[in-house]
Amino acid sequence: MHEESLIRSLLRQVEELAQQHHARAVDEIEVEVGPLSGVEPLLLQDAFERLKDEFSWPRAELSVLQVGLDVLCQSCQSESQLKDFRFVCHQCGSTSLKIIRGDAFRLLNVSMQVDDSFNGKPQATATQHSTDACGLPLNEQTSHP
Ligand SMILES: [Zn+2]
Repeated sequence: MHEESLIRSLLRQVEELAQQHHARAVDEIEVEVGPLSGVEPLLLQDAFERLKDEFSWPRAELSVLQVGLDVLCQSCQSESQLKDFRFVCHQCGSTSLKIIRGDAFRLLNVSMQVDDSFNGKPQATATQHSTDACGLPLNEQTSHP
């Protein structure tokens, strides 16, 4: 099933992220689903419930954020959110629209518990050496009476 393979690759992606960050646990996985993504949020949740036992953190929760369909008008450059899937600009009525959001399924955010000992590294700070003020022109003029 479509949603199942999406969840499989999503979980792989999260496993990689968790490894990179030396996570102790993954709490929540947040994804974005647009109306034109071809993904059914309910089926997505279903697939997640079925597959999460294969995942290293089966107690993680999936949170699906359903976004609207945002378009950019090519004629008047205004952005609008289409409510009824009629591809018409709300400002000028043009039909040459570019989809800027709403046609994708993607990973938004992963909440994980990170071991502090890996975060304790001191951050390298770039020190700015200020150049001497010697080169400044002296505006002050000494006048001798
Ligand atoms: Zn327009």
